[in-house]
Amino acid sequence: MTATLLLVVLLLGASISGSGPAHSAVGAEPPAGTPRTVVSLTFDDGHDDQVDAARVLSGYGLRGTFFVSSGLIADEPGPTDPMPTKMTLAQLRDLQAAGHEIGGHTVTHADLAEMDAEEAQRQVCNDRTKLVELGLDVTNFAYPYGTASRDLEQIVAGCGYNSARGLGDIRSPELPRVTFTCEECPVAETIPPADPFRTKAPNQVENTWTLADLQKTVTDAETTGGWLQLTFHHIDATGASLSVPPSVLDAFAAWLAARAPLGTVVRTVDEVIGGSQQETVEYPPAPRAGNLLRNPGLETPSHDSALPACWQSVGWGENRPSFTVVEDAHSGDVGSRLDLADYVGGDAKLLPTLDLGTCSPPVESGRAYDLGTWYKSTGETQFEIYVRDSDGSWTHWTSSPPFPPTDEWTHATYTTPPIPRDVDGLSFGLNLRQAGTLVTDDYSQEVDITWDEFLTRSIAATWAQVRRTFTAPFDNPASLSILASPW
Ligand SMILES: [Zn+2]
Repeated sequence: MTATLLLVVLLLGASISGSGPAHSAVGAEPPAGTPRTVVSLTFDDGHDDQVDAARVLSGYGLRGTFFVSSGLIADEPGPTDPMPTKMTLAQLRDLQAAGHEIGGHTVTHADLAEMDAEEAQRQVCNDRTKLVELGLDVTNFAYPYGTASRDLEQIVAGCGYNSARGLGDIRSPELPRVTFTCEECPVAETIPPADPFRTKAPNQVENTWTLADLQKTVTDAETTGGWLQLTFHHIDATGASLSVPPSVLDAFAAWLAARAPLGTVVRTVDEVIGGSQQETVEYPPAPRAGNLLRNPGLETPSHDSALPACWQSVGWGENRPSFTVVEDAHSGDVGSRLDLADYVGGDAKLLPTLDLGTCSPPVESGRAYDLGTWYKSTGETQFEIYVRDSDGSWTHWTSSPPFPPTDEWTHATYTTPPIPRDVDGLSFGLNLRQAGTLVTDDYSQEVDITWDEFLTRSIAATWAQVRRTFTAPFDNPASLSILASPW
């Protein structure tokens, strides 16, 4: 391991110093003694306007790195569909074919600090697996929101990434809205970075940055040499907080390309970090039995909101929902109360968090599921059911028949239709569609097992036990382990 790392470091040193043919396409050698500065232009979140950004870069012979979320890649629009706001798979493949780099950014642009390790693993690893399956060479990662930690660094490394970009540890322009400018920070990251799984970068580029600010981060970096990763989001003229006008990017790219003779070059993150494309790793949610929900009685509070852990509020339309944890409980100490005010339209409800499997449990297509919730309500209510597809994105699937208003704890139950193909997760909740109050507690989601299935499984289990009994004396661990795995 140490030897491999050392080799990578040596190779990196060689390629960045400019003699390697793969990395010296742009510009001539700098004057002797000039510190070498490498700039990476990175673009986050796969916005459709980044196609134009890539075109600008390509016009100057520059290549960028685009960090995208596999669950947020846009479908190819039909002839009458509006233009998507995210890049499509075809656009991402075009970027890669043009020499730009595609990196990973979690399945759903998740704040990894907000979830347990298993869910974070799914967010990071399954994203990379999906992107690679789609034909993209993904070797580097960027933390959404820049949230990193020692544990997360290990997870990212375990997913087969070669590096991960942090944010805010390199000196950044002093700007009105930016409170953290990191005055004492270095002006550039080292090559290779001391910690490849939390590489240092300035704050993300905002609309308050001028061309001169962008140029100053580069000229500052040139005083020591090293690596400067700049992070862009939108390249458009909307003036939104994370938007940079195309004209500014164009002028900056032209200025950057002209600095090659001074020893400042633009490289993708992959060109700076090096290393090969490692095997992908996937973490499907572990199968569960019984009540599939986490925190079904709402007893465990979340760290940072008024909602119970593993639960979120979802709603639409014009209304004002508020959720409170209350002492009115069907069992245990608490339930959850929804008060819906200023109602014009839409609905509101509490759901198991729409995630990749920790809170919203995995389901099998073709199976039906029994859903249940105890409730009291001033108005009619019904289950709204959402499903997660294999890309990790959620859509509304179906609704149950309505349940009547009631002052007494009442058990609302519903058996879903068979789960459609390509669906691997489910989330559900009782809604309110009028002003009023709904209290819920003790949710359940179980596989709906038919008698046929129950009998088949019982016979199979008994038969497996018989075979185990007869095989054991022969002391054959291989056959035992096969026989011991039921169904
Ligand atoms: Zn992002």
